[in-house]
Amino acid sequence: MISIEEAREIILGKIERLETEEVPILESLGRVLDEDIYAEADIPPFDNSAMDGYAVRSEDVAGAWPGEPVELTVLGDVAAGYVPESPIGKGEAIRIMTGAQMPEGADAVVMVENTEHTGGGVLVFTPARPGENVRFAGEDIKKGDVALKRGKKIIPGDIGMMASVGKAVVKVVRKPVVAIITTGDELVDIDKPLVPGKIRNSNAYSIAAQVIDVGCVPLMLGIVPDSQEALMTKVEEGAGADMIITTGGVSVGDYDFVKDILDQAGEMVFWQVAMKPGKPLAFGIVQGKPIIGLPGYPTSSMVSFEQFARPALLKMSGRTDIARMTVEAIFEESFKNRSGRRNMVRVIVSKDNGIFKARLSGSQKSGSLKPMTLANGLMVVPEDVEELHPGDKVTVQLFEPITD
Ligand code: AMP
Ligand code: MG
Repeated sequence: MISIEEAREIILGKIERLETEEVPILESLGRVLDEDIYAEADIPPFDNSAMDGYAVRSEDVAGAWPGEPVELTVLGDVAAGYVPESPIGKGEAIRIMTGAQMPEGADAVVMVENTEHTGGGVLVFTPARPGENVRFAGEDIKKGDVALKRGKKIIPGDIGMMASVGKAVVKVVRKPVVAIITTGDELVDIDKPLVPGKIRNSNAYSIAAQVIDVGCVPLMLGIVPDSQEALMTKVEEGAGADMIITTGGVSVGDYDFVKDILDQAGEMVFWQVAMKPGKPLAFGIVQGKPIIGLPGYPTSSMVSFEQFARPALLKMSGRTDIARMTVEAIFEESFKNRSGRRNMVRVIVSKDNGIFKARLSGSQKSGSLKPMTLANGLMVVPEDVEELHPGDKVTVQLFEPITD
């Protein structure tokens, strides 16, 4: 049986980044930029005041102090969004607001707090260095420079930058569409009555949520019964998407068809991984599309998605940061791992005075979903570690950042 790393590597080796599409900038958040964005003009576009105050010639106020203020003639004022009506000369100033364009002749701004308005002028109580309180044209980015580099994951500041260089539409890597097929005669959907012998199809929804969480689009193909023909039809339909995910039907039971379908209709790349939960996992290619057959048990399918489908979808999306953040934590309980497989244990991680602590989020049975509703990480118990005791150091993959 192959290891988690081997399985992940094989899958990633078959996954390619999707092509480019153009979207309005707000739709690009969290996605991968697929072009370099250049500044078409300086940012800021002109020298402007960083403060409300008076635009002055620094040499005029060089000797100013509260005991001997310098009096300047005020020629007028300029607000943000307007241009100064005149340049200033020796002994002159213009009242200026934050963001307003600097008048010609002025090289500094004295904050209004350090001045006093007089009849036709202003008393300046402090000197100003040349350039003081001025934001210079091109200070942020110069015309022609790269403002944002291709390949970066787009964050809110990037969207502001796109807007400031006048970009309304931007090239990003297309969002993968993921066909989700759940298999099993025992399944009924959430809006149907629960009759004896049946269980609700929760996998379709937990997997779709994981797909959305990773920035992709789920295509809900519903439940297929345990029949090879029915599954084949759905898988062919699913091949219209960028990836097909199935749940159930990958173990060694008589009604486990996913493996057979891959053998017949596509390329079966591997089956089974040395992981607990989630040993049954099928990976293959159908009509050129990757298909991941997740196990049926609710927790197994989610943990397997985390380890294999999530990195694959991130790679398709153009992302290079595809691993979950891991932390070292102190385990607070006892745990046995006699499986000989890597155990991905559902835990609750907390941070206490800068130290991460981990405890079980509940039963570790593959069928129980509740511990997945409480867990914020997966504790990685290596194949050769048979027992963990309180105080042992462990590695945990985090689903989200943890704060104190
Ligand atoms: P299987 O791998 O198909 O044998 O599925 C194993 C077990 O997982 C089944 O007996 C069900 O209890 C459970 N299961 C399978 N599919 C689903 C599903 N879509 N939603 C919830 N539980 C499921
Ligand atoms: Mg089944």
